[in-house]
Amino acid sequence: MKTVLIVCDGMGDRPTKALNGLTPLQAADAYTFNKIASLGECGIMDVIAPGQPPGSDTAHLAIFGYDPYTQYSGRGAYEALGAGLDLKPGEVAFRCNFATVSDEGIIIDRRAGRITTEEARILAEALKDIKLEDAESIFVSTTEHRGVLVLRGDKLSRMVSDVDVHEVGVKIGKPKPLDGSIEAEHTAKVLEEFITKARKILEEHPLNKERIAKGLRPANAVLPRGAGTLPNVKPISGIWNIKAAAIAGGALYKGIAKALGFDLINVPGATGTVNTNLKAKIQYTIDALKKYDLVFLHIKATDTVSHDKNPVKKKEVIEWISHEITPLVDLIESQGYYLALTADHTTPSEIGEHRGDPVPLAIMGPNVRRDWIEKFDELSCARGSICRIKGVDLMKILMNYLDKVPLFGE
Ligand code: ZN
Ligand code: ZN
Repeated sequence: MKTVLIVCDGMGDRPTKALNGLTPLQAADAYTFNKIASLGECGIMDVIAPGQPPGSDTAHLAIFGYDPYTQYSGRGAYEALGAGLDLKPGEVAFRCNFATVSDEGIIIDRRAGRITTEEARILAEALKDIKLEDAESIFVSTTEHRGVLVLRGDKLSRMVSDVDVHEVGVKIGKPKPLDGSIEAEHTAKVLEEFITKARKILEEHPLNKERIAKGLRPANAVLPRGAGTLPNVKPISGIWNIKAAAIAGGALYKGIAKALGFDLINVPGATGTVNTNLKAKIQYTIDALKKYDLVFLHIKATDTVSHDKNPVKKKEVIEWISHEITPLVDLIESQGYYLALTADHTTPSEIGEHRGDPVPLAIMGPNVRRDWIEKFDELSCARGSICRIKGVDLMKILMNYLDKVPLFGE
């Protein structure tokens, strides 16, 4: 027995004016989503806890069955693993933005005039020359203005403040220790040294001089945030005695899956954006079922359009995903596999940020207690037979169907 877990990022929503008071899921004409609901059992899920807006990182920890309150060790580690870096215990990783900072140190643009992936790669190359006094730095760019910094050395801690505070018009912050430890103080100093040296290199880089000459904003600063270390957890394959694989475009999701012991399946054209090659992701999921017991498929586009505050586009994205997953759902139905469809959080598309409302969930497969729900959306699923669960309960529910949960008692 096998199972597929599809997480459409930020798919949960609230009633929107643009859709006459409906959520994008309610408004969508999503035949295959509704088929999953209709063949399966439905419910809603508080991914972290009722009313708690989840980050995508903590949300996925919970969905994979790990307690986010005790097992979350910062986002940077996931970004580093997702970027293909080999993070080791004791090293601290940060997500970074290339940004534009004025001569006075005021942050003007957190995305450095939307520099391209290729430009960022050239700038990242120049940062390889940075030598720090008491640690080693590894910097790689990922997509567009984004990158990852890893600090390697003794006495490092993830308890340092964000340099990027998600605001423009403010002075570039100095990293501060977040606890009283020597390690945190040391790490803050090392981080400050990196930022200072990076700024100097970037200011003088020919690519930035060229950008200024063209009237574009230079990428003259690196802003780290989300310090993280490797989570100290048992791999998911060991917990449930399964073979697990993950298919995702975004670096964060690949990183989380890797940190939790999933095998990563790289799909050409899977970008973690609206322009992803979803057809290929579906085909790779189908192929992965030959080898794996659990295949996690992450789709980011629903969250992206929510952050863009575009409910109408979100409805269209939902319809597109529903259409594209049809061959996968048909295969699951014919083979008698299980499938769970859900979201990692609600991102109301009128607000453009994550919120703590529960998300819809449907599970189809052999002998599930099929309920009377025939539409996959926030309110229909709320009337289903799973009722209301927490995110951390989902994996055990799926593994129970796969006969992987040992008896408790006699
Ligand atoms: Zn998310
Ligand atoms: Zn989001």
